[in-house]
Amino acid sequence: MVADSAEGKGSSPFPAGPPAGAPGSGRPPRGLRKAVFLDRDGVLNRAEVKAGKPHPPKDAASMDFFPEAAGSLKRLKAAGFVLLCVTNQPDVARGTRSPDNVRAMNARALAELPLDGLYACLHDGPDGCLCRKPKPGMLLEGARDWNVDLSRSFMVGDRAGDIGAGRAAGCRTVFIDRGYDEPRPAPAADYTCRGLAEAVEAIISSCKRKSVMKTAADLKVKLFADGADKAGMLEMNRNPLIKGFTTNPTLMRKAGVTDYEAFAKDILKEIPDKPLSFEVFSDEFPEMERQARLIASWGPNVYVKIPVTNSRGESSAELVGSLAKAGVRQNVTAMMTLAQVREIAAKLAGGPPAYVSVFAGRIADTGRDPVPLMTAAVELLSVAPGAELIWASPRELLNVFQADDSGCHIITATNDILKKLSLVGKDLTEYSLDTVKMFKGDAESAGYSL
Ligand SMILES: [Mg+2]
Repeated sequence: MVADSAEGKGSSPFPAGPPAGAPGSGRPPRGLRKAVFLDRDGVLNRAEVKAGKPHPPKDAASMDFFPEAAGSLKRLKAAGFVLLCVTNQPDVARGTRSPDNVRAMNARALAELPLDGLYACLHDGPDGCLCRKPKPGMLLEGARDWNVDLSRSFMVGDRAGDIGAGRAAGCRTVFIDRGYDEPRPAPAADYTCRGLAEAVEAIISSCKRKSVMKTAADLKVKLFADGADKAGMLEMNRNPLIKGFTTNPTLMRKAGVTDYEAFAKDILKEIPDKPLSFEVFSDEFPEMERQARLIASWGPNVYVKIPVTNSRGESSAELVGSLAKAGVRQNVTAMMTLAQVREIAAKLAGGPPAYVSVFAGRIADTGRDPVPLMTAAVELLSVAPGAELIWASPRELLNVFQADDSGCHIITATNDILKKLSLVGKDLTEYSLDTVKMFKGDAESAGYSL
């Protein structure tokens, strides 16, 4: 794109002089920044509306900036945005306006408002250039000049072409609806507002929502590691975020454990100070009770896992009640319904600390949203203040945040999910690039050729 708009060759920044990071600026490029691209007429200054359509003011002297324009732009600057005006001025190509007239108006906008740059397209018609909105050329050039991450940026405009250009550049879009007699953006912009102040409010509050994204350190939900592989359990024990452990016979079998008691005692020697759950495996309640008391004797941090029913579907509630009375810490497991939670909570009331494991991931596997059920389960457990709800069988890292939001006390996850905690809040542009590099590396390692 050629840089002299006065001759109608292309878009250009006003005033002359490249910004930091631009070629020839002599200043090093900074990290990627976020920008707000703003249309000029109808956004920063009043447009002249004739027959329901907006037109630019006659000349620089008659430009009437909206009273809220300077203050709104200052707010955006304070929020860290680069502010770039992008304006179509086709009257130059049509011969009804001189380049000097446009240059004087743009200079006034730059002088009176806290803009960082201004790009003007002086062309007409849909096919003549790459810069006339709804084409994204001016935004792409601005992004290049100012090291802008377009996916974190916004385009604000009062016409469908502005919104089209913003969308084509990969920005979020804000439409200021001035009620012109012309088609509105289709599809609609991300936000529709009545003026610039409201548009700025929408942008800033959407960024706030993003910036309050929780980090792993903000979580109230306790993280437990679910597994039966000794090396993996010890690795997680070194992670200060992991507050406890759960196992089950399926995981132990997968990990090649053959001597249940020897394995459990070995782990308890290594992890004597965090809750550890081991499960009974009998199907008969008297034998389950004997196993439960034996397992409980292995250490003060042991929780005995009792399945909510036996394999014939008979409720374990009576057993849970009698173990609670005997002071056995339990982890009642394989639960999936609120009726089960209600029945077990009543049996745990007044007993020692206990866990109630609801298999939210398996519930999700059936196409049901587990979040409302888990929220209700937390409430039902209030009758047993010593009992904590575990979000069990999570399928992805997102479930940690869902568990936290729904008030669950604990989530127990396998190491492959817990390792993804390092990704929380990762920049998505960077993550996308990592992914592309992974594809490239794997294709090269495989020696593929076409
Ligand atoms: Mg406009």
